[in-house]
Amino acid sequence: MIPENINKMEKKRIVVKVGTNVMTNKDNRILGPVLKNLVEQISILYEQDILVVLVSSGSAIAGKEILGDISIKDESMRRQVFSSVGQPRMMRHYYSIFHDFGMRCAQVLATKRDFAPGVHRENMINCYESLLSEGIIPIANEDDAVSVTMSMFSDNDELASLVAELINADSLIILSDTDGLYTGHPDDDDSEKLNKVQIDQNVEKYVQESTKGEGQGRGGMESKIKIAKSTARKNIPTYIANGKKPNIILDIMEGKPVGTKFTS
Ligand code: GLU
Repeated sequence: MIPENINKMEKKRIVVKVGTNVMTNKDNRILGPVLKNLVEQISILYEQDILVVLVSSGSAIAGKEILGDISIKDESMRRQVFSSVGQPRMMRHYYSIFHDFGMRCAQVLATKRDFAPGVHRENMINCYESLLSEGIIPIANEDDAVSVTMSMFSDNDELASLVAELINADSLIILSDTDGLYTGHPDDDDSEKLNKVQIDQNVEKYVQESTKGEGQGRGGMESKIKIAKSTARKNIPTYIANGKKPNIILDIMEGKPVGTKFTS
C-alpha cells in the first residue's frame, strides 16, 4: 500500500541520467570534476526547490578501474563482478561530493521486474517519495548483480525513463557526450543540432552508424531517441544533452537552447 500522504509534495522534480561516457575519460577513469559539477548543479536546483533523482551508470567502469582484468570469460558474469565491485566505489565518490555540498544521497538499485505492477513497485515509490521528502538525493542504478537477461533494462536510459514515470517527474534529462541530436554527423559543418523534436517527427533517419551504440555504456543515440520519444509520450518532456558541458542542467532549466528537447 502507498501511504496517502505520500506523492503530494508540490516541488518540481526532475530525473537526470548520467552515462558512463560522460563521467569517464578516454582511459576509462572516473572524472571527479564532472561529478562535482553535476552535484553542484543538483545543489543549486535544490535551493530553487527543484528535486533531482540521479540515475547514474558507471559501476562497471569503476569496477574495471579497481580490478583491471579478471579471469572470468563469461560476459554476464564479468558484468556482475565489475559492477558489484564498482558500485560502492562510485557511491563513495558521490557520497563524499554530496557531503562537501552539505547534502545527503542514497543508493536505489532496481531491476526491470521491480517496475511491474506489484509490491516491489509500490515499495520503490515509497522509497523515492520518502527520500525526496527528507531532502536526500536518490541515486539509481540497475542492480547489475542480479539483473541478467530477462530482468535487464535495455540500458540506463530505459531505467531513467521508468523512474521518471514512477515519480511523476516534470522532465527527464539524459546526459550523454554529444550536444544533442544532429541532422548529420555531429562533426560535419553541414549538420545542425535539433533544439526541439515532436514525438511524431521522423528523426531516426538522422542517426549516424557511428553513434548507434558507442563507448562504454550500453545505450547509443538510436535507443536514446526511442526512450526520449516514449517518455515524452507520457507527457514528460525529455532532453538529450551534453553532460560534459559545465552547468548543462541549469542551462536546460533556464530554457537555454542547449541539447535536444522531445515533447508530445
Ligand atoms: N548499470 C551499468 C553501470 O552502472 C550501465 C548500464 C548502461 O550503460 O546503460 O555500469
